[in-house]
Amino acid sequence: MSRPDAVTGPGVLVRCRGAARTYGDGPAAVVAVHGATCEVRTGDRIAITGPSGSGKSTLLHLMAGLETPTAGRVVWPALARGPVPDQVGVVFQGPSLIPALDVVENTALPLVLAGRPEEPARRRALDCLALVGATGLADKLPEELSGGQAQRVAVARVLAAAPLLILADEPTGQLDRRTGRHVVDVLLASADTLGAALVVTTHDPAVARRLPQRWTMHDGRLRTGPRPPRDMPAAAPERTVP
Ligand code: ADP
Ligand code: MG
Repeated sequence: MSRPDAVTGPGVLVRCRGAARTYGDGPAAVVAVHGATCEVRTGDRIAITGPSGSGKSTLLHLMAGLETPTAGRVVWPALARGPVPDQVGVVFQGPSLIPALDVVENTALPLVLAGRPEEPARRRALDCLALVGATGLADKLPEELSGGQAQRVAVARVLAAAPLLILADEPTGQLDRRTGRHVVDVLLASADTLGAALVVTTHDPAVARRLPQRWTMHDGRLRTGPRPPRDMPAAAPERTVP
């Protein structure tokens, strides 16, 4: 499956310009993100580190189009249809599988919602479960899964939709070191296979070290790091969707 329609041009998948998010108002208002300015381009591999409560999830949700900025702007210049699930995939911090659906139905859900016929969607879901080493879980319900297994299924669900931008919010937060390493391996390999950009929030320095570009957040303030030199052309690479 190739999707020539998916990218309108080279480059910037998401751009935040002074994007801020405040919750509540008056004296009780909490500024979760202060005017963040950043961009994520095709091929980027970015880790966002920062203590709990520093605004990492809120920033990720702004980049996913799931939160509206209360000031500033967030735009998706290279995404023809904006931040829809088959262009921007989110691995959420908490449990996100639908309890009443089994693993393969959960994984196929974005495709079914996008109008794909059930059988091909199911086949693709099984392929993606294989990529994350979760083939044996296909018939299980979410309540039968360990935290690590559920997280791998959540990654498979994102892969099934073949997004151009993968946003993973503390994907290893609930996992032991070894399982966490495997989930990061899978995210990196998937981003390569899909020709997607990958942004991972984490408070684990060992996870952050796996990504070449590091941003930090403190009290809602984002500091972006230098863009590492790379051979990747600015234009979107040829992509093959497995
Ligand atoms: P992190 O992911 O780094 O732990 P969050 O983005 O979840 O940080 O939260 C940043 C700040 O915004 C925290 O003070 C948090 O309590 C607050 N916050 C996040 N979401 C909400 C919400 N829906 N309502 C009110 N406050 C929120
Ligand atoms: Mg968070």
